[in-house]
Amino acid sequence: MQGQGARGRLGGMSTSQSRPQVQPQAEGWKQALDAEGRPKLQFAQSRRVSQPPKHLADLSLDERVEWVKELGHQGFRAKQLSVHYFSHYTSDPAEMTDLPADSREEMVAELLPPLLTEVRRLRTDDGATIKFLWRLFDGALVESVLMRYRNRITLCISSQCGCGMNCPFCATGQNGLTRNMSTAEIVDQIVRANRVIAAGELDAPSAEEIAEEKDHAGLGEEADEAASPPAAASASGPQRVSNIVFMGMGEPLANYKRVMNAIRRMVDPAPEGLGMSARGITVSTVGLVPAIRKLAAEDLPLTFALSLHAPDDELRDELIPVNSRWKADEAIDAAYEYFVKTGRRVSIEYALIKDMNDHPWRADLLAEKLNARGRGWVHVNPIPLNPTPGSIWTSSEPEVMAEFLRRLEAKGVPTTLRDTRGKEIDGACGQLAAAED
Ligand code: SAH
Repeated sequence: MQGQGARGRLGGMSTSQSRPQVQPQAEGWKQALDAEGRPKLQFAQSRRVSQPPKHLADLSLDERVEWVKELGHQGFRAKQLSVHYFSHYTSDPAEMTDLPADSREEMVAELLPPLLTEVRRLRTDDGATIKFLWRLFDGALVESVLMRYRNRITLCISSQCGCGMNCPFCATGQNGLTRNMSTAEIVDQIVRANRVIAAGELDAPSAEEIAEEKDHAGLGEEADEAASPPAAASASGPQRVSNIVFMGMGEPLANYKRVMNAIRRMVDPAPEGLGMSARGITVSTVGLVPAIRKLAAEDLPLTFALSLHAPDDELRDELIPVNSRWKADEAIDAAYEYFVKTGRRVSIEYALIKDMNDHPWRADLLAEKLNARGRGWVHVNPIPLNPTPGSIWTSSEPEVMAEFLRRLEAKGVPTTLRDTRGKEIDGACGQLAAAED
């Protein structure tokens, strides 16, 4: 429903400032409420949920050695298995000829149980983007999206089956949280993607894609210089995943322990882990403030992204239900603290939704709030809203987006419109809903 007229700050006279404010409730979407009538949020999975089998990737190398011994094998087998998994991306005993033939199968069954079954693979961008649908041991479905750019390969991974944060514009949140993914389930998305890349199944981006890349930042772009060698040194680009974004299904900070453990596996040097750069790993959150503080204290130069989407509580309360717990200013403060503690410039994510949050005054207010904390600590990553099933909200008009960006830049806030890959295959931000048909 439109035409709700001027709200508090809509006092200006220009036509762009008097555009209607659209309310989320009026768009045919009803937010699920809890017993007290507040937006329904699920911070934890149900206690009855069963966990996937233990896997080598759940453990540090020392813990693996212990486990291997407990199972009656020699301790050094842990390292051999780790090389197969983290460096050769294989869980196939037939490929492990350095292990004794008579116990190979048994060892693999115990330490490398299958976690992700590929259900479907969709390709777009001439094969430079692949969306995977995985089935987990209990039938739960999750997705990950693999994207090759000129000189980096980014994997967008899931951290939970479903999501408990209930954001009305995101497809993942609509069915609630099924369960947390285990550390190894999170890591296995990367190992499986690396295997696909090694098999030559992820194509190079077209010249057209590369030209577009120059105008728009891709996911994980921030870490580009740090994580990848210069373009000239890698004419064919990297041959494995170089950048991770926790922007698939789930709220990573609501599954803190397993996500952090998975990040350890990513950054641990091979063969203990994948030997990736922490700077190339982006953790994105709706704004769970205590968990952001904890993350800042981890002493890892991860890239941090806050899904803000509105600078004012009035609207953010509607768009991001968790705003009922931690307000926009608290979330921005926590993001600023992340910068202070780690020295890493943080990203503010802002999905531009037509007539919802794209008003010029909101760009001004956002810039004011960011500048009030300091300069040079943040950049804003607006992204045109991706359509989700059943939602009538749409992306802002190009000229409205341009004005939004212009206003932020005029106030000295670095801003890059985010490239959004995979829309054609429902693989873009907010579109991951993991259905089999
Ligand atoms: N739960 C985390 C990470 C998953 S979503 C978070 O919220 O940050 C990754 C990003 O996609 C978030 O910024 C999210 O707000 C954004 N997003 C969700 N739905 C979207 C949509 N329909 N269009 C564009 N971006 C969307």
